[in-house]
Amino acid sequence: MNNKMSRAVLSLSAALSLVLSGPLAAVAQTPAAAPAAAKAKPVARAYGGAAVDGARLLAADSEPGSWLAAGRTYSEQRYSPLTGISKANVGKLGLAWYADVDTERGQESTPVVVDGALYFTTAWSKVFAYDAKSGKQLWAYDPKVDPSNGAIACCDVVNRGVAAWKGKLYLGALDGRLIAIDAKTGKKAWEVQTTDLKDPYTITQAPRIVKGLVIIGNGGAEYTCRGYVSAYDAATGKLKWRFYTVPAKPGDPTNTPELKSALKGWDGDFWKYGGGGTAWDTILYDPKTDLIYFGTGNGLSWSQEVRSPKGGDNLFVSSIVAVHASTGKYAWHFQEVPGDEWDYDVTNPLMTADLKIKGQPRHVLMQAPKTGFFYVWDAATGKLISADKFAPLNWASKIDLKTGRPVENPDARYSDTKAAIVQPAPLGAHNWHPMAYSPKTGLVYIPVTESSTGFMSADPKTFQVKDRVYNTATVSFSDKITELYGKPGAPQRGNIRSYLEAYDPVAQKIVWKAPDKDYGPHGVMTTATNLVFSGDWSGYFNAFDARTGEKLWSIKTQADVVAAPSTYVIGGEQYVALLVGARGLPPGQIRTSATSANNSRLLIYKLNATETLPTAGVAGAVAGKVLDPPLLTGTNEQVIDGEGAYGRFCSGCHGAGGVADKSIPDLRYSPALRNLRNWNAIVIDGERASKGMVSFKSVLAEGQAEAIYHYIVSQANKAKAEQAAKR
Ligand code: CA
Repeated sequence: MNNKMSRAVLSLSAALSLVLSGPLAAVAQTPAAAPAAAKAKPVARAYGGAAVDGARLLAADSEPGSWLAAGRTYSEQRYSPLTGISKANVGKLGLAWYADVDTERGQESTPVVVDGALYFTTAWSKVFAYDAKSGKQLWAYDPKVDPSNGAIACCDVVNRGVAAWKGKLYLGALDGRLIAIDAKTGKKAWEVQTTDLKDPYTITQAPRIVKGLVIIGNGGAEYTCRGYVSAYDAATGKLKWRFYTVPAKPGDPTNTPELKSALKGWDGDFWKYGGGGTAWDTILYDPKTDLIYFGTGNGLSWSQEVRSPKGGDNLFVSSIVAVHASTGKYAWHFQEVPGDEWDYDVTNPLMTADLKIKGQPRHVLMQAPKTGFFYVWDAATGKLISADKFAPLNWASKIDLKTGRPVENPDARYSDTKAAIVQPAPLGAHNWHPMAYSPKTGLVYIPVTESSTGFMSADPKTFQVKDRVYNTATVSFSDKITELYGKPGAPQRGNIRSYLEAYDPVAQKIVWKAPDKDYGPHGVMTTATNLVFSGDWSGYFNAFDARTGEKLWSIKTQADVVAAPSTYVIGGEQYVALLVGARGLPPGQIRTSATSANNSRLLIYKLNATETLPTAGVAGAVAGKVLDPPLLTGTNEQVIDGEGAYGRFCSGCHGAGGVADKSIPDLRYSPALRNLRNWNAIVIDGERASKGMVSFKSVLAEGQAEAIYHYIVSQANKAKAEQAAKR
């Protein structure tokens, strides 16, 4: 660690917190006090100017009416000191204004509010600016991402937000560009390609700004990408440093001493396929340690038998890596899942906090990753303080606090001859959905999901890595897996349940759970008035009591909610902002748009507001809800081959079993099923490439497109029979 730099940052931070503790306390009392506090501290910032700099970010708590960065402050606790909305009046929260979003794909960003303007991103990496009070659109920016990138985005063409810095907004676009946008005009200032276009990289995360550097990673581990995190000069777009997360071929000049050492824990020619370890979501800067932390994902392939046949830890897969902010040089790492083979990414949100542990003040880093173990580390050294279960899991019995390694359940490892049932499934006990920490309650609020899945490896002798497809080298359906699920005491298969959980990071124990009616995780925010805000997949936005989990307020959003809210003050009134829409519609929700099966919107709430959402369903918009497939003409063999090929090449976007789980067409309803020629025009000839459905000619073997067609026709006829039986 650079001690000199760290001391300088610390003293600035300490000075600011001393100076600002007075006015901050006043602001925290009533929303009406906010303008007075603003007057006491004169600012010369223009409306919509996004004049954010390091000092302002360090002092974010002195202006709780702004939401300056995705996680609000550098600590990314998503805790707001605002007190205008409280338990006493939250019941009067109503819709102030809303804005429709012009894309029907998933929405995952947290609105940033600075100098009176509200900025958010949508699917396809579009950026929008609104007047945060009136709801007037200021500008819209479309980077015009080539839709063919949709085919290499594992989990929808989403984006998780912008970073604001000195008059500009920074966007990581799906196609790997980092783009600086003038915050006043919405015009592009500069752009740089952060990836090699020969490789199928994508970006969905929000960039972070640290000391004039824009920090950005990428995704694409299963698609033959090698993970790395880069820093670009915020003013010019010049590359300042890059940290690779997995080694390249031995002897490659990008192999730093740490990566040369990491090579000892790898086997085989993994580097031919990139290796993975992509840092696709969390990036956290801590001014106290002057370190940047990021989490890395799985390797390629998931199956370790294929990836690294003799095993090994496979560093830095599934690891937290800390680097020095100015240089990107390695500081420390902590591998949560050595030799991962369950897609246990640890890219899940990280946050720093000051906790009292065993009577001692500790400055910690915390995470609730996919694995189900909650970690607390010393932020400076990465030394493990504690780790325990925040959700049910079966892949390990505990974390050895001495070595930091999981004590694995031997039954959880699989091969091409041995099946395993693993809990949680690859979506994890907690995925990218933002969690929140309240220094007032001392609790972390985590959107938890419970799930399990079966694993077997593909045959390592015959498995071939293919370009631009999802190369997990795993099988999730087999007789051996079915047999395991049939045994007494086996976990329930698939998505089991979800809930909002309050977790005590000091005692490492669950405090309360607020169950979801319908399965699905959703981002979280908490406030100084002991409220926790979060949406759900039943189509509601809710406020809970932070101490008990009691639901205090709920309002219909007409959409599935996965993104996290933010909150701000304009003219003395507190607002809550939430982007909604993802993976189709909540149960029973009628579409309000003729062109979309996903009511994606920005929703803005304040006390006593009475705006309403459109209520009437659009006539004819539900056409296609009645199944009308052709009769099955394929053979049993074709249907079985089609099931396997669909699982590998199509299900990532179109959903398991042909049942759409997102806002991407449900193929069972597709008019293209009417004849095979139309089907092949799309699948082989790429007729819909401009909509993101690229040609799969180069990856499908002879007859596979037709086999997939017959499989979908078969699935559609099964569903039609079920529909008929219900009538
Ligand atoms: Ca992954």
